[in-house]
Parts: sequence; structure tokens; C-alpha cells
Amino acid sequence: MDIIHLLPDSVANQIAAGEVIQRPASCLKELVENSLDAGASRIQVIVRDAGRTLLQVIDNGSGMSEMDARLAFERHATSKIQEAKDLYSLRTMGFRGEALASICAVAQVEMTTRRAEDETGTLLEIHGSDVVRQEVCSCPVGTNIKVSNLFFNVPVRRKFLKTDQTELRNLLNDFYRIALVYPKVAFTFVHNDEILLDMPAQSEKQRIETIFGNPARNSYTSAFVEIKTETELVNIHGFVIKPESVTRKAEQYFFVNGRYMRHPYFLKAVQTAYAGMLTNDYQPSFFIYFDIDPEAIDVNIHPTKTEIKFADEQTIFQILMASVREALGKFSLAPQIDFDTRGNIDIPLPTEHEAKMPQVTVDPNYNPFHTRNTYSQPQPAPRQWESLYTGLKADTNVIYPDATTNVLPETETPNVWQYANRYILLPTEDALLLIHQHRAHVAILYRQWIEQLQHTQGVMQQLLFPEVLSLQADEMVLFGQIADDLRAIGFDIEQLSPNSYSIQGVPSQLAQQSPQPILQQILAQVRERGANTRDEWREQIALSLAETAAIPTGRCLTTEEMQDIVRRLFRLPSYLRTPDGKTILTRLTDDEIRQRF
Ligand code: ADP
Ligand code: MG
Repeated sequence: MDIIHLLPDSVANQIAAGEVIQRPASCLKELVENSLDAGASRIQVIVRDAGRTLLQVIDNGSGMSEMDARLAFERHATSKIQEAKDLYSLRTMGFRGEALASICAVAQVEMTTRRAEDETGTLLEIHGSDVVRQEVCSCPVGTNIKVSNLFFNVPVRRKFLKTDQTELRNLLNDFYRIALVYPKVAFTFVHNDEILLDMPAQSEKQRIETIFGNPARNSYTSAFVEIKTETELVNIHGFVIKPESVTRKAEQYFFVNGRYMRHPYFLKAVQTAYAGMLTNDYQPSFFIYFDIDPEAIDVNIHPTKTEIKFADEQTIFQILMASVREALGKFSLAPQIDFDTRGNIDIPLPTEHEAKMPQVTVDPNYNPFHTRNTYSQPQPAPRQWESLYTGLKADTNVIYPDATTNVLPETETPNVWQYANRYILLPTEDALLLIHQHRAHVAILYRQWIEQLQHTQGVMQQLLFPEVLSLQADEMVLFGQIADDLRAIGFDIEQLSPNSYSIQGVPSQLAQQSPQPILQQILAQVRERGANTRDEWREQIALSLAETAAIPTGRCLTTEEMQDIVRRLFRLPSYLRTPDGKTILTRLTDDEIRQRF
């Protein structure tokens, strides 16, 4: 007797369902994607008991003919591809023709559907793959699918479902991933008769705001900057969070051709672009949309998988990183802090007055560059704002930091004033802190440049007209030694003659400035301070750049700017002195103040 036989369809469908429909969220995803593929502009989702009892999707899409309605529930029935080669030019979400067959194998499904050209619609009821009712009905144009009692005939699956709370979170997460790429489609999401989301047709940014914003708080999306890059290979656009708004909990979304994807390698590209701007356990939030020729990606993978393979991932990595870097560079490394109101302005050079400012006495034993390693140490977790200062012990002039308390929580708003356009005053529980605004900013920027020098390639901005840097013979030698490091952070320089270099590009953060004075200053510092190892050169370069870009003394700052400086300063591993040993912060204790009265 032959022992091999074909499985009845109902059994085959149940097996397929095990792969495609693992939980209510996957069922909802398939239904909503079908509605989108049918061209719906309005989709309602109605859920009961996190999808266990009911998952209903109502759309105003194309609807189906009577014949198609019946066929739709057959395995490998699809209107979306006809030949194998169509797989490579996919623009629809579904294509396997498996979802409805799988769903009806493990639930009780009722559907009404009507096309615009038909007078009447079709009602179809299927229980566990068996058609129990099919009749003509009157219904609106579009499709209304009700999936009840999911896994009613697969007790094992039912048992594996998590709590309603978890399943609802899964439902919403999958729903967000779709709603974020179809902002022009209106969606509502109702759970147990409560409207959780009601979104009209919107822009991408408004959609992000509707989903993640909290109307009671500041606008969510104002913490983001836009990225946009168009190349022959790929177009990338979207939003990335400003470094100062980063929090622990991140929303990280990649989409390709209208589909959510996970992509650890591209995530790395984004993280790299933030190098030096984030403390260790903070993650950047982003919403990044890729548009690419469908032939350059492989989506013919398992429907529940969100990984997507690209043909040229390394090139895209670089394009992506540069794009994010550029967007961040405009903001985070520039001295302006209040981006929204003032945009991108010129980075000022230090004023003459400032260059001549009397130097504070430097502790002769203090070698700033021996503390270098502290810059790459993991950051301690933030503590409460006030407790920051419990670690600061003052015996008159010297302040010792407590290494465990140097991060300021994002949420706390420091109470700040400015004095003499030069110092930020910060009252604490038992003292008044005076912070030198320029030096604080130098320390902040220094760290960013150092990280960039050590870990990443800087983003270069090509100059419209190359400039010439003329140097003396000894300067030429020195410049030749640091040239590679300068290239690493984004300078495009080439020796032109025995006594000159041409400058064709500068780091994007310095694009607003004339490059010669910056390079001259770097050279002067390297020469003056006698750096002779590569690490020391780097530190000198970072310091020069930081000094060039930092807000000068004499500038009036807004409260937000001061708060930002204070927050970022206290996130540094060493915030008491600049890398070259100048005092950033001093402290007047309560006792000292009292004694004066
Ligand atoms: P796939 O989406 O992979 O083609 P499905 O099993 O999800 O497979 O759907 C089968 C077919 O049913 C689709 O190709 C489509 O023609 C039709 N269909 C499903 N849902 C809808 C809908 N909401 N509106 C119109 N047609 C639909
Ligand atoms: Mg489908």
C-alpha cells in the first residue's frame, strides 16, 4: 500500500497558518496590508480582547467580485503576481496568496465585500476552512473582514498567547509600522470600544506626532531633524533625533519601499553617525525611509520576517551614515543650541578680547592629556539633579568630582542665569555654581571631536573654490605629519607646492568658516604645545576645533542655551576643567555667602 498521500487542504492550511499567523498581531498585519493593496484610503481596525475574540478590518478599497471573494480564501490565490519573475518587481505588501487561506483555517471568518461597479456585494462565512454561508448582500464599496475566535481549533496556539496587555502591545506595534508608511491613509484603531487612535490623512511628520506625541507635552517631532539624500542607488529621507533630546527609550524605524524592516547593519550606520554624542545606554530615535529599485532588494523571504537583504549594503551604509551625520552636524556641533528658532548660523571665531583673556593659573602637575582614557569609559546612570552636587566637595578653590555622579537627567530643568555675558549661574541646594560658558562649551565640543577622530570618518563638505594655505618650511613638515588626521575628520587637503597646501574641503561642521585661520591655529597649537605622538596631535586638533567653534564669552545666551550647556557639560566624564586645564566651574558655598552678610 502506498503510504504517501496529499494532505487535505484544511490540514495544509493549518500548517501554513502556523507559520504565517502566529498571533493576533500577524493576522491584523495581513488584513491591513490587504486593504492597502486594495487601494483603501480609509481603514478601520476594531479589536476585542487583544484580538482573541475579534479582529475586524473595514476598508473602502477595491472590493472583490463574487468569484474573487470565494477564491481569495484558497491557498496561493493571489491577484498580485502571475509569474515567478514578478516577485522581483513587487510594489504590493502581500504576494504569496497565503494569508486569507491561513486565517480562515484557524478562525471563524465573516466577510462582506463589494466593488464599485457592482450593485450588490457578497457575504461569505468560513469556519476553519469550511464555507458555511455564501450569499448576495447589500454593503458599502470595499471589504469588511471579521475574524472571530482566533485559534478556536488550535488550543496549543491559544495557550501560547501572552496576556492581553502584551498581545495588544504587539498589535499596536505592528499597526504603527504600517501606519507610519501610509500617512495618506486615514486609520482608526478601536480596542474594546475605546478609540485608541484616530488618524486622518496626514504628512509623515504629523503621523509620527499622532502616534508618538503626547498632546499634553511639547511636540514630539520638534526634537527631530530631517534627513534627505538622493543618489542613483537609493533615496533616503526621514527624521533623526537631535543628540540633546536622546533618551533611553528609543523609537527606531527603518522602512524600505513602504515596508517596515529591521536592519542591524544600517542601525550601526546610524549609531556611528551619533558617535561621541550619546552616552552609552542611550539610543537615538529615528524614522528613516529608503526608496530603492525593487530589483536591488530581496523581499521574497518569509512573510513574518522583517529582515530584508540589499544588493549593495556597504554603499548604502555609507550614504546613510553621511546623511545622518550631515543632519546632526548642522546642529549638534555648532554652538547654536536653540535650533528651531534660529536655524543654522555662522560659527563665530573667538573674539580678539577673548584670545587675550588672562589665563587662569594652571596646576603644574595637571596634565590634561593623561586623562584621555576617561573619555571612552562607560557613563554612569543618571541620578537626580540635586544629588549631582553631593559629590562636589569644596575646600575653597579645588573641587573634586565624585566619579559616580556626573550625568544630569534629561528631564530635569536646571535653573540658570547668566552673569556678565560670560558666566552661567546655577544655584544648587547648598551652593552657587559659576560656570564659564566658553570653556564649558569647549569641553563639550572637544569630546565630540575626539570621538570623531578616534572612531569615525568625518563628513567632508567640498569647497566651491579651493583655498591655498601658505606655510613656512618648518610648518610644512609639521603639517605633513598631521595631514592624515586632518583628513580623517573631513579636511580635504593636498600639497600644492613645496610651501603650500590646497584646501578642497572642510569638515561639514566648519563649512561656514574660512579654513585657513582654523588650520593655522591647529598648527600653532601643535607646535606650541609640542605634541609628538599621534594621539597628542589628535587632542590638539580636537582642542583647536573646539575652541574655534565654542560660543565666545561676551555672548548673551538664552535660558534654553544655558540649560543645554549645563546638561551636556555634566554628562562629560570630567567637567571641572577644560582639556588644557582651565577651570570651567567654581562654587560659592552657602557658608561663604552667609559670611559676607
Ligand atoms: P496576497 O495578499 O498575498 O495576494 P491574501 O491571502 O492576503 O494573499 O489575499 C488573497 C487575495 O484576496 C489578494 O490577492 C486580493 O486579490 C484579495 N483580497 C484580500 N483582501 C482584500 C481586500 N481587503 N480588498 C480587496 N481584495 C482583497
Ligand atoms: Mg495579503
